[in-house]
Amino acid sequence: MSERKKILVTGGAGYIGSHTVVELYNSGFEPIILDDFRNSEEFIIDRIQKIINNEVILYKGACQDADLLQMIFEAHEISGVIHFAAYKAVGESVKDPLMYYENNIGSLLSILRCLEVYKVKNFVFSSSCSVYGDHPKLGNGITEEASDLKPQSPYANTKLIGEQIITDWKVNQPDTNVCLLRYFNPVGAHESARIGELPLGVPNNLLPFITQTAAGIREELTIFGNDYNTEDGTCIRDYIHVVDLAKAHVKSLEWLLAKNGVIDVFNVGTGKGSSVLEIVTKFEELTKVSLNWSFGPRRTGDVPVVFADNKKVKEYLKWTPEYTVDNAIVHAWEWQKSLE
Ligand code: UDP
Repeated sequence: MSERKKILVTGGAGYIGSHTVVELYNSGFEPIILDDFRNSEEFIIDRIQKIINNEVILYKGACQDADLLQMIFEAHEISGVIHFAAYKAVGESVKDPLMYYENNIGSLLSILRCLEVYKVKNFVFSSSCSVYGDHPKLGNGITEEASDLKPQSPYANTKLIGEQIITDWKVNQPDTNVCLLRYFNPVGAHESARIGELPLGVPNNLLPFITQTAAGIREELTIFGNDYNTEDGTCIRDYIHVVDLAKAHVKSLEWLLAKNGVIDVFNVGTGKGSSVLEIVTKFEELTKVSLNWSFGPRRTGDVPVVFADNKKVKEYLKWTPEYTVDNAIVHAWEWQKSLE
Protein backbone atom coordinates (compact mmCIF):
# COMPACT_ATOMS: atom_id res chain seq x y z
CA MET A 1 0.00 0.00 0.00
CA SER A 2 1.13 3.47 -0.83
CA GLU A 3 2.33 5.56 2.07
CA ARG A 4 1.99 8.68 0.00
CA LYS A 5 -0.49 11.33 1.12
CA LYS A 6 -3.08 11.99 -1.56
CA ILE A 7 -3.41 15.54 -2.81
CA LEU A 8 -6.23 16.52 -5.16
CA VAL A 9 -4.98 18.97 -7.78
CA THR A 10 -7.80 20.68 -9.67
CA GLY A 11 -6.56 21.95 -13.02
CA GLY A 12 -3.64 19.54 -12.68
CA ALA A 13 -3.12 19.32 -16.45
CA GLY A 14 -2.70 23.09 -16.78
CA TYR A 15 0.50 25.11 -16.88
CA ILE A 16 1.19 25.58 -13.17
CA GLY A 17 -0.88 22.51 -12.23
CA SER A 18 1.15 20.05 -14.30
CA HIS A 19 4.47 21.29 -12.89
CA THR A 20 3.02 21.11 -9.39
CA VAL A 21 1.85 17.52 -9.92
CA VAL A 22 5.43 16.58 -10.84
CA GLU A 23 6.92 18.32 -7.79
CA LEU A 24 4.30 16.79 -5.48
CA TYR A 25 5.17 13.35 -6.74
CA ASN A 26 8.91 14.04 -6.42
CA SER A 27 8.33 15.11 -2.82
CA GLY A 28 6.56 11.91 -1.82
CA PHE A 29 2.91 12.84 -2.34
CA GLU A 30 0.34 11.06 -4.49
CA PRO A 31 -1.22 13.71 -6.71
CA ILE A 32 -4.73 13.13 -8.04
CA ILE A 33 -5.57 15.25 -11.07
CA LEU A 34 -9.03 16.64 -11.70
CA ASP A 35 -9.20 18.41 -15.05
CA ASP A 36 -11.73 18.65 -17.86
CA PHE A 37 -9.11 19.77 -20.43
CA ARG A 38 -11.10 22.81 -21.47
CA ASN A 39 -7.91 24.83 -21.32
CA SER A 40 -5.27 22.10 -21.33
CA GLU A 41 -4.27 19.07 -23.40
CA GLU A 42 -4.67 15.41 -22.55
CA PHE A 43 -1.19 14.56 -23.84
CA ILE A 44 0.23 16.49 -20.86
CA ILE A 45 -0.86 13.59 -18.64
CA ASP A 46 1.39 11.22 -20.60
CA ARG A 47 4.21 13.72 -20.34
CA ILE A 48 3.78 13.98 -16.57
CA GLN A 49 3.86 10.18 -16.35
CA LYS A 50 7.08 10.09 -18.37
CA ILE A 51 8.73 12.61 -16.06
CA ILE A 52 7.73 10.83 -12.85
CA ASN A 53 8.11 7.40 -14.44
CA ASN A 54 4.82 6.32 -12.92
CA GLU A 55 1.10 6.48 -13.46
CA VAL A 56 -0.89 9.39 -12.16
CA ILE A 57 -4.50 9.18 -10.99
CA LEU A 58 -6.72 11.22 -13.31
CA TYR A 59 -10.37 12.22 -13.19
CA LYS A 60 -11.69 13.94 -16.27
CA GLY A 61 -14.37 16.42 -15.34
CA ALA A 62 -15.27 19.82 -13.95
CA CYS A 63 -15.03 21.13 -10.40
CA GLN A 64 -18.71 21.92 -10.50
CA ASP A 65 -19.68 18.32 -11.21
CA ALA A 66 -20.99 17.43 -7.75
CA ASP A 67 -21.41 13.72 -8.53
CA LEU A 68 -17.86 13.40 -9.75
CA LEU A 69 -16.49 15.25 -6.71
CA GLN A 70 -18.46 13.00 -4.40
CA MET A 71 -17.03 9.96 -6.14
CA ILE A 72 -13.45 11.23 -5.85
CA PHE A 73 -13.69 12.22 -2.19
CA GLU A 74 -15.36 8.92 -1.33
CA ALA A 75 -12.85 6.84 -3.26
CA HIS A 76 -9.75 8.43 -1.73
CA GLU A 77 -8.58 9.59 1.63
CA ILE A 78 -7.51 13.06 0.53
CA SER A 79 -5.06 14.95 2.76
CA GLY A 80 -5.16 18.23 0.89
CA VAL A 81 -6.49 20.09 -2.13
CA ILE A 82 -4.63 22.50 -4.39
CA HIS A 83 -7.18 24.44 -6.39
CA PHE A 84 -5.86 25.74 -9.73
CA ALA A 85 -8.85 25.17 -12.01
CA ALA A 86 -9.97 28.63 -13.16
CA TYR A 87 -10.11 30.92 -16.16
CA LYS A 88 -7.16 33.31 -16.27
CA ALA A 89 -7.28 35.63 -19.27
CA VAL A 90 -7.69 39.24 -18.19
CA GLY A 91 -9.02 40.48 -21.57
CA GLU A 92 -11.53 37.65 -21.88
CA SER A 93 -12.77 38.36 -18.36
CA VAL A 94 -13.55 41.94 -19.37
CA LYS A 95 -15.56 40.68 -22.36
CA ASP A 96 -17.45 37.99 -20.44
CA PRO A 97 -17.34 38.72 -16.71
CA LEU A 98 -20.25 36.43 -15.89
CA MET A 99 -18.39 33.47 -17.36
CA TYR A 100 -15.48 34.31 -15.04
CA TYR A 101 -17.59 34.74 -11.91
CA GLU A 102 -19.63 31.65 -12.70
CA ASN A 103 -16.63 29.41 -13.26
CA ASN A 104 -13.99 30.78 -10.89
CA ILE A 105 -16.30 31.40 -7.95
CA GLY A 106 -18.61 28.44 -8.66
CA SER A 107 -15.72 25.96 -8.74
CA LEU A 108 -14.26 27.35 -5.54
CA LEU A 109 -17.58 27.03 -3.72
CA SER A 110 -18.07 23.44 -4.74
CA ILE A 111 -14.52 22.51 -3.70
CA LEU A 112 -14.89 24.25 -0.31
CA ARG A 113 -18.13 22.37 0.27
CA CYS A 114 -16.29 19.08 -0.31
CA LEU A 115 -13.52 20.05 2.11
CA GLU A 116 -16.21 20.64 4.68
CA VAL A 117 -18.22 17.48 4.03
CA TYR A 118 -15.21 15.15 3.75
CA LYS A 119 -13.24 16.89 6.51
CA VAL A 120 -10.21 17.62 4.38
CA LYS A 121 -8.01 19.90 6.44
CA ASN A 122 -5.50 21.40 4.03
CA PHE A 123 -6.19 23.77 1.18
CA VAL A 124 -3.98 25.80 -1.16
CA PHE A 125 -5.65 28.46 -3.30
CA SER A 126 -4.21 29.77 -6.50
CA SER A 127 -4.38 33.57 -6.26
CA SER A 128 -2.60 36.29 -8.15
CA CYS A 129 -0.65 39.52 -7.68
CA SER A 130 -3.39 41.06 -9.84
CA VAL A 131 -5.40 41.36 -6.59
CA TYR A 132 -3.17 44.36 -5.83
CA GLY A 133 -4.59 46.23 -8.84
CA ASP A 134 -2.54 49.36 -9.44
CA HIS A 135 -1.57 49.72 -5.79
CA PRO A 136 0.91 52.57 -5.22
CA LYS A 137 3.31 50.20 -3.41
CA LEU A 138 3.66 47.77 -6.35
CA GLY A 139 6.80 49.51 -7.58
CA ASN A 140 8.61 49.11 -4.24
CA GLY A 141 8.10 45.40 -3.67
CA ILE A 142 4.59 45.00 -2.35
CA THR A 143 3.92 43.10 0.88
CA GLU A 144 0.92 40.91 1.68
CA GLU A 145 -0.25 43.47 4.24
CA ALA A 146 -1.09 46.04 1.54
CA SER A 147 -4.65 47.17 2.09
CA ASP A 148 -7.27 48.92 0.01
CA LEU A 149 -6.92 46.49 -2.88
CA LYS A 150 -8.69 47.43 -6.08
CA PRO A 151 -8.35 44.67 -8.70
CA GLN A 152 -8.49 46.05 -12.23
CA SER A 153 -10.38 43.27 -14.06
CA PRO A 154 -13.13 40.74 -13.47
CA TYR A 155 -10.44 38.03 -13.51
CA ALA A 156 -8.48 39.75 -10.73
CA ASN A 157 -11.73 40.33 -8.87
CA THR A 158 -12.50 36.59 -8.91
CA LYS A 159 -9.15 36.04 -7.16
CA LEU A 160 -9.70 38.67 -4.47
CA ILE A 161 -13.31 37.57 -3.93
CA GLY A 162 -12.07 33.97 -3.80
CA GLU A 163 -9.63 34.93 -1.01
CA GLN A 164 -12.45 36.69 0.85
CA ILE A 165 -14.84 33.75 0.50
CA ILE A 166 -12.18 31.38 1.86
CA THR A 167 -11.44 33.77 4.73
CA ASP A 168 -15.15 33.99 5.66
CA TRP A 169 -15.54 30.22 5.36
CA LYS A 170 -12.46 29.59 7.51
CA VAL A 171 -14.02 31.39 10.52
CA ASN A 172 -16.23 28.38 11.11
CA GLN A 173 -13.56 25.81 10.16
CA PRO A 174 -11.13 26.23 13.05
CA ASP A 175 -9.07 23.10 12.31
CA THR A 176 -8.65 23.78 8.61
CA ASN A 177 -5.34 25.06 7.23
CA VAL A 178 -5.23 27.39 4.25
CA CYS A 179 -2.54 29.02 2.12
CA LEU A 180 -3.51 31.75 -0.33
CA LEU A 181 -0.69 32.06 -2.87
CA ARG A 182 -0.44 35.27 -4.86
CA TYR A 183 1.62 34.45 -7.93
CA PHE A 184 3.64 37.04 -9.78
CA ASN A 185 4.54 36.26 -13.45
CA PRO A 186 5.07 32.52 -13.97
CA VAL A 187 7.41 31.71 -16.87
CA GLY A 188 9.58 28.90 -18.19
CA ALA A 189 8.96 25.19 -18.47
CA HIS A 190 10.17 21.91 -17.02
CA GLU A 191 13.87 21.26 -17.63
CA SER A 192 12.96 18.07 -19.52
CA ALA A 193 10.97 20.18 -22.04
CA ARG A 194 8.16 17.63 -21.67
CA ILE A 195 5.69 20.04 -20.08
CA GLY A 196 5.28 23.80 -20.36
CA GLU A 197 2.84 26.54 -21.20
CA LEU A 198 0.29 25.91 -23.97
CA PRO A 199 -1.43 29.23 -24.68
CA LEU A 200 -4.83 29.06 -26.37
CA GLY A 201 -4.66 31.08 -29.59
CA VAL A 202 -2.56 34.23 -29.64
CA PRO A 203 -0.62 34.48 -26.37
CA ASN A 204 -1.27 37.50 -24.17
CA ASN A 205 1.79 36.92 -22.03
CA LEU A 206 5.24 38.14 -22.91
CA LEU A 207 7.39 34.99 -22.86
CA PRO A 208 5.07 32.72 -24.91
CA PHE A 209 4.71 35.58 -27.41
CA ILE A 210 8.50 35.84 -27.63
CA THR A 211 9.03 32.09 -28.12
CA GLN A 212 6.24 31.86 -30.71
CA THR A 213 7.70 34.82 -32.61
CA ALA A 214 11.14 33.22 -32.53
CA ALA A 215 9.59 29.98 -33.82
CA GLY A 216 7.97 31.84 -36.72
CA ILE A 217 4.39 31.34 -35.49
CA ARG A 218 3.97 35.09 -34.88
CA GLU A 219 5.37 37.69 -37.20
CA GLU A 220 6.54 40.29 -34.75
CA LEU A 221 6.62 41.03 -31.04
CA THR A 222 5.37 44.45 -30.01
CA ILE A 223 6.85 45.85 -26.83
CA PHE A 224 3.95 47.73 -25.31
CA GLY A 225 5.35 51.14 -24.44
CA ASN A 226 8.89 52.50 -24.04
CA ASP A 227 8.02 55.75 -22.32
CA TYR A 228 7.41 54.44 -18.80
CA ASN A 229 9.30 55.94 -15.90
CA THR A 230 11.79 53.05 -15.71
CA GLU A 231 15.46 52.85 -16.63
CA ASP A 232 14.88 51.67 -20.21
CA GLY A 233 11.31 52.95 -20.51
CA THR A 234 9.67 49.50 -20.59
CA CYS A 235 7.57 47.84 -17.89
CA ILE A 236 9.10 45.81 -15.09
CA ARG A 237 7.65 42.50 -13.84
CA ASP A 238 8.66 39.80 -11.37
CA TYR A 239 9.14 36.69 -13.51
CA ILE A 240 9.12 33.47 -11.51
CA HIS A 241 10.16 30.08 -12.93
CA VAL A 242 7.14 27.79 -13.02
CA VAL A 243 9.06 24.96 -11.33
CA ASP A 244 9.96 27.24 -8.42
CA LEU A 245 6.31 28.25 -8.23
CA ALA A 246 5.31 24.57 -8.26
CA LYS A 247 7.75 23.93 -5.41
CA ALA A 248 6.12 26.75 -3.43
CA HIS A 249 2.91 24.70 -3.49
CA VAL A 250 4.70 21.67 -2.09
CA LYS A 251 6.26 23.83 0.63
CA SER A 252 2.82 25.27 1.41
CA LEU A 253 1.33 21.81 1.83
CA GLU A 254 4.18 20.64 4.02
CA TRP A 255 3.73 23.74 6.16
CA LEU A 256 -0.03 23.25 6.38
CA LEU A 257 0.25 19.56 7.26
CA ALA A 258 2.15 20.51 10.42
CA LYS A 259 -0.48 23.09 11.50
CA ASN A 260 -3.73 22.88 13.35
CA GLY A 261 -5.86 25.72 12.10
CA VAL A 262 -4.20 28.49 10.13
CA ILE A 263 -4.89 30.77 7.19
CA ASP A 264 -2.19 32.87 5.61
CA VAL A 265 -1.40 34.67 2.40
CA PHE A 266 1.93 34.68 0.56
CA ASN A 267 3.43 36.50 -2.37
CA VAL A 268 5.21 34.02 -4.61
CA GLY A 269 7.74 35.96 -6.64
CA THR A 270 11.48 36.36 -6.87
CA GLY A 271 11.50 39.82 -5.36
CA LYS A 272 13.39 41.10 -8.41
CA GLY A 273 12.07 42.85 -11.47
CA SER A 274 13.12 42.53 -15.11
CA SER A 275 12.10 44.95 -17.83
CA VAL A 276 10.45 43.81 -21.06
CA LEU A 277 13.50 45.00 -22.99
CA GLU A 278 15.81 43.02 -20.70
CA ILE A 279 13.78 39.86 -21.33
CA VAL A 280 13.86 40.39 -25.09
CA THR A 281 17.61 41.09 -25.08
CA LYS A 282 18.36 38.14 -22.83
CA PHE A 283 16.27 35.87 -25.04
CA GLU A 284 18.33 36.84 -28.09
CA GLU A 285 21.63 36.47 -26.23
CA LEU A 286 20.82 33.15 -24.60
CA THR A 287 19.21 31.43 -27.58
CA LYS A 288 21.24 33.12 -30.35
CA VAL A 289 17.95 33.60 -32.17
CA SER A 290 17.25 37.08 -33.42
CA LEU A 291 13.77 38.27 -32.68
CA ASN A 292 11.60 40.46 -34.87
CA TRP A 293 10.34 43.13 -32.50
CA SER A 294 9.43 46.80 -32.33
CA PHE A 295 8.15 49.33 -29.84
CA GLY A 296 4.42 50.03 -29.89
CA PRO A 297 1.97 52.01 -27.80
CA ARG A 298 1.29 51.19 -24.16
CA ARG A 299 -1.22 48.43 -23.42
CA THR A 300 -4.25 49.62 -21.49
CA GLY A 301 -4.17 48.62 -17.85
CA ASP A 302 -0.42 47.95 -17.61
CA VAL A 303 1.26 49.14 -14.41
CA PRO A 304 4.88 50.36 -14.87
CA VAL A 305 6.62 48.34 -12.15
CA VAL A 306 5.46 45.22 -10.29
CA PHE A 307 7.58 43.07 -8.04
CA ALA A 308 7.04 41.09 -4.87
CA ASP A 309 8.31 41.53 -1.40
CA ASN A 310 8.88 37.81 -0.80
CA LYS A 311 10.30 37.93 2.75
CA LYS A 312 7.21 36.29 4.21
CA VAL A 313 7.13 33.25 1.93
CA LYS A 314 10.87 32.76 2.43
CA GLU A 315 10.62 32.97 6.19
CA TYR A 316 7.42 31.00 6.81
CA LEU A 317 7.53 28.35 4.09
CA LYS A 318 11.33 28.10 3.85
CA TRP A 319 10.95 28.50 0.11
CA THR A 320 13.37 30.31 -2.09
CA PRO A 321 13.53 30.46 -5.88
CA GLU A 322 16.29 28.25 -7.30
CA TYR A 323 16.09 29.12 -10.98
CA THR A 324 17.02 32.43 -12.61
CA VAL A 325 15.13 34.35 -15.28
CA ASP A 326 17.84 33.19 -17.70
CA ASN A 327 17.00 29.56 -16.86
CA ALA A 328 13.32 30.27 -17.44
CA ILE A 329 14.00 31.83 -20.84
CA VAL A 330 16.13 28.88 -21.96
CA HIS A 331 13.59 26.34 -20.67
CA ALA A 332 10.69 28.17 -22.35
CA TRP A 333 12.60 28.08 -25.62
CA GLU A 334 13.47 24.37 -25.30
CA TRP A 335 9.77 23.70 -24.68
CA GLN A 336 8.71 25.80 -27.68
CA LYS A 337 11.15 23.95 -29.93
CA SER A 338 9.84 20.60 -28.69
CA LEU A 339 6.38 21.54 -29.96
CA GLU A 340 7.45 21.88 -33.59
N1 UDP B 1 4.20 42.65 -23.09
C1 UDP B 1 4.66 43.17 -24.28
N2 UDP B 1 4.31 42.56 -25.43
C2 UDP B 1 3.52 41.43 -25.46
C3 UDP B 1 3.07 40.90 -24.23
C4 UDP B 1 3.43 41.54 -23.07
O1 UDP B 1 5.37 44.19 -24.30
O2 UDP B 1 3.22 40.95 -26.55
C5 UDP B 1 4.57 43.32 -21.82
C6 UDP B 1 3.37 43.83 -21.03
O3 UDP B 1 3.00 45.12 -21.48
C7 UDP B 1 3.90 43.81 -19.61
C8 UDP B 1 4.89 42.63 -19.60
O4 UDP B 1 5.18 42.36 -20.98
O5 UDP B 1 4.64 44.98 -19.35
C9 UDP B 1 4.28 41.38 -18.98
O6 UDP B 1 3.03 41.15 -19.57
P1 UDP B 1 2.23 39.80 -19.36
O7 UDP B 1 0.95 39.91 -20.14
O8 UDP B 1 3.09 38.63 -19.64
O9 UDP B 1 1.94 39.78 -17.79
P2 UDP B 1 1.15 40.82 -16.84
O10 UDP B 1 2.19 41.38 -15.95
O11 UDP B 1 0.50 41.84 -17.69
O12 UDP B 1 0.20 39.95 -16.13
